[in-house]
Amino acid sequence: MPVPSYHITCTRKELIARDVYELSFTKPEGFTFIPGKFVLFDIPLIENEKDIQTRALSIASRPEESELLFLVKLVPGGRLSRWIVEVLQEGTDVRIQGPFGNFLVDQKTMKDYVFIATGTGLAPFLPQIESLLLQGETRTIDLVFGVRHTADLFWTEKFLELERTYSNFHVHIALSDKEKNDHPHFCGRVQELLHAKQWELSQKNFYVCGSPGMIKDIKELCLSSWNVPKADLHFEAYI
Ligand SMILES: Cc1cc2nc3c(=O)[nH]c(=O)nc-3n(C[C@H](O)[C@H](O)[C@H](O)COP(=O)(O)OP(=O)(O)OC[C@H]3O[C@@H](n4cnc5c(N)ncnc54)[C@H](O)[C@@H]3O)c2cc1C
Repeated sequence: MPVPSYHITCTRKELIARDVYELSFTKPEGFTFIPGKFVLFDIPLIENEKDIQTRALSIASRPEESELLFLVKLVPGGRLSRWIVEVLQEGTDVRIQGPFGNFLVDQKTMKDYVFIATGTGLAPFLPQIESLLLQGETRTIDLVFGVRHTADLFWTEKFLELERTYSNFHVHIALSDKEKNDHPHFCGRVQELLHAKQWELSQKNFYVCGSPGMIKDIKELCLSSWNVPKADLHFEAYI
């Protein structure tokens, strides 16, 4: 079956943290998805617009919202990164394909949820967590979010607001730059924060998204130290 493709138009481009852009696009007629899915953007090379490659971005909005939201972390010299900085502006049209992916929340589980993100790996968790809470989920939902420095933080107030509204939702922020501790957050990596919490991790359902290195570490810890069954591990690596 051919992969469905759509044309979408940028309605907002905003730098929300160091090297992190939040992007809004029009939602095409008939485009439906489940939280956790990603789409492929057609990204031309700046020097030759006929040279097109695709780049994956997780959808950061909920299906019932009127626009599509994305988060992008710039990488030096990257094709998508350069296109966002140098070409993309309000009104730019782009072709996408999708939605794709199996990084979906298993609501049949009886276990509490732990969502672990580094950087823009937070993107699929916003619609997933908001959808769970809006649907009346009563199990405990812990979000562990890691970045290097306070300059890399974003969406903190959004998640703190959810924490104030829903007593079963908790957000935990880890800043790995240990040199600077002029903030109220945990100093260290997300792996260290999980150790420090002393949760019964074998009783949690894990969703992990972000850098491949962090995902490899968490996977090893889950399987070798924390006795988490494979069925309770869900990963999306931003390769
Ligand atoms: C399922 C999935 C979902 C994703 N969702 C998101 C998301 O929501 N948000 C997000 O920020 N990212 C996401 N990613 C990652 C994203 O798709 C891109 O891989 C990332 O943004 C980098 O793209 P880029 O085109 O800017 O860099 P690329 O052009 O792919 O380059 C990556 C790195 O390689 C270097 N490089 C490129 N070409 C060369 C070369 N010829 N020689 C040496 N070095 C080179 C670049 O300098 C750069 O450091 C996702 C990935 C996957 C697989």
